[in-house]
Amino acid sequence: MRRTSFFLPTLRENPAEAQIVSHRLMLRAGMVRQASAGIYSWLPLGYRVLQRIENIIREEQNAVGCLEMLMPTIQSADLWRESGRFDGYGREMLRIKDRHDRDLLYGPTNEEQITEIFRDAISSYRDLPRVLYQIQWKFRDEVRPRFGVMRGREFLMKDAYSFDLNYQSAKRSYNLMFMSYLRTFGRMGLKAIPMRADTGPIGGDLSHEFIILAETGESEVFYDKNFLTFETPFIGDLNETALEECFSKWTHPYAATKELHDPNKNEELGSNILSARGIEVGHIFYFGKKYSLAMGATVTGPEGNKVILEMGSYGIGVSRLVGAIIEASHDEFGIIWPDTIAPFSVGLINVAVSNNDCDRECENIYIKLRDAGIETLYDDRNERAGGKFAEMDLIGLPWQIIVGPKGLKDGKVELKRRCTGEHLELSIENALTRISST
Ligand code: ATP
Ligand code: MG
Repeated sequence: MRRTSFFLPTLRENPAEAQIVSHRLMLRAGMVRQASAGIYSWLPLGYRVLQRIENIIREEQNAVGCLEMLMPTIQSADLWRESGRFDGYGREMLRIKDRHDRDLLYGPTNEEQITEIFRDAISSYRDLPRVLYQIQWKFRDEVRPRFGVMRGREFLMKDAYSFDLNYQSAKRSYNLMFMSYLRTFGRMGLKAIPMRADTGPIGGDLSHEFIILAETGESEVFYDKNFLTFETPFIGDLNETALEECFSKWTHPYAATKELHDPNKNEELGSNILSARGIEVGHIFYFGKKYSLAMGATVTGPEGNKVILEMGSYGIGVSRLVGAIIEASHDEFGIIWPDTIAPFSVGLINVAVSNNDCDRECENIYIKLRDAGIETLYDDRNERAGGKFAEMDLIGLPWQIIVGPKGLKDGKVELKRRCTGEHLELSIENALTRISST
């Protein structure tokens, strides 16, 4: 992408409305613009990041056998009356009336919708287990939308739903999703801490929140310091027993925010426990028969008997992750994208546009990177070098190649790694090799 053809409305000043660093940087880097309170437009740079995150989630969901689908954002109130949640959900639900005066709502979550679909389509235990998921916009009329996309009213969520014949199988689905979440966040360069959680309005028995550490986080977390050294397992290698063992290791006893306020428990856990603040990026629930019972979702079991389905639901805050990753990875100059999330891998800076050598070599590098499948933002604007450097640091691409007339006299360009600040003078060939080998 040539910078002269791109749409990147960056801001020089810190916007007054942004209280936390990720919100400030997302506005300054031209990633999003607020449409109204808690509702955002995603501009090209921000949308690229959102799609990168979506794709990692999609790949990891597919890898454990989940099936992608798409449900509407607008749902009928009758569906929610069946589960009994229409009146209970409260003012966070955006209620709408159509021209026939029928009650509709903008979905804050989809348990009812998926239960109806599954109930009407599946009648035998032979079609179990299944996990269905979507990546779709949700609306929750939060009392206090704030922190940019981290607590929006309209936000993108990955929501998955599992259907099993019995508890044992449902627990396996839960464990599998748990492990898959560790891998998903790991691929984004994040260490997510699974924390035993309240089940809240979704209801149910077993639940974990996945929290990433950041000073501006809204949740208080207690965790074992050994935790951060744990390796994320490769799920393909895990049989049933290994899966359960692995789950126990990751959930004992690092879980629990509230219990730690109890001094006895504190003593028991000892000095390994650290306290920090964190951001909830995912939340998984096993809730058994809550919706299937209310909505009559059953199958015929192996003995010909009617069995009420066992269910769970599994959310990831896709749009919240964009802010959360920035909270976890930035410096005073701007964003530092992990390689897997970056909107472009390389920022190519032409220091002296209309100097023939610089123009020619930049074109040459740009084409080589393109042919190697490495996405590049080429700053070909005829502007001051200082402003270009500052903008590249702000938008946080993992690599910068800086091409100036002085270096080119010796056949050299400058290669900068954004996350370490390391600068190297290299030949063009060596710079390209260095980039493609990461
Ligand atoms: P929170 O406790 O932060 O309000 P929640 O428990 O209401 O979240 P869930 O129902 O578990 O959220 O939704 C799944 C995921 O969706 C959350 O883990 C979070 O990452 C994301 N999410 C929830 N509410 C919002 C919001 N208002 N804006 C952005 N992302 C959100
Ligand atoms: Mg939650």
